[in-house]
Amino acid sequence: MQEKKCIRLEEYLDDYKFSQTSRIRKDGDRIWVPDVYCHNGHSLMVHGVLFDGLPAIHIRCHVGGEGGPAEDFYLSPIIGDDRKKGPDLPAGTRVMMTCPICKEPLRKLVPCSCRVGAYRYAIYLTPDPEELGAIGLCETYGCPQSFVSEDGELIYECVAE
Ligand SMILES: [Zn+2]
Ligand SMILES: [Zn+2]
Repeated sequence: MQEKKCIRLEEYLDDYKFSQTSRIRKDGDRIWVPDVYCHNGHSLMVHGVLFDGLPAIHIRCHVGGEGGPAEDFYLSPIIGDDRKKGPDLPAGTRVMMTCPICKEPLRKLVPCSCRVGAYRYAIYLTPDPEELGAIGLCETYGCPQSFVSEDGELIYECVAE
C-alpha cells in the first residue's frame, strides 16, 4: 500500500446509462467495472482478491520492463481507486504489463504526462478490443493516471494533481 495521492476524477459523460448489465456499474457513489479482458479476450478478474467485496483485476508486471522479474498485481476495479495488492516498488519504476493467461504484453494506447516517454496500456471492457471499450493504465508504478473509455469516447479520467 502506498500513501494516498491527490487524484481528481473527471467525468466526461453525464448521462451514462448505468444498469445491471452495463460495462461500467454504479452503486451509491461507487463506480466500478465488473469485467475486464486482455486484447485476446482473457478475463482478468479474480475472486481470490477482493476490494470492498468486488473481484480484483489481475495483471502480471515485468519490473523494469521486458525481461525483468515477473510480479503479480491485483488492482481495484473501482474507478478512481488506486489501491492495489502486490509487491511494493519504488515510485516511478517502469513495469511491462502483461496478461497472466496468454503472457502477451498489453497494447499501447496513449502517452501519460507523468514522465517523458511513459505510455498507458489497454485492458478492455469486452472480450473484443474492436468494441473500443478500454481502461488505460500507466506503465509507471505509482502513477494513478488511468482512464476509461467506451465506444471510443472518454468517460472517466483520473488525473494526479
Ligand atoms: Zn490474454
Ligand atoms: Zn503515468
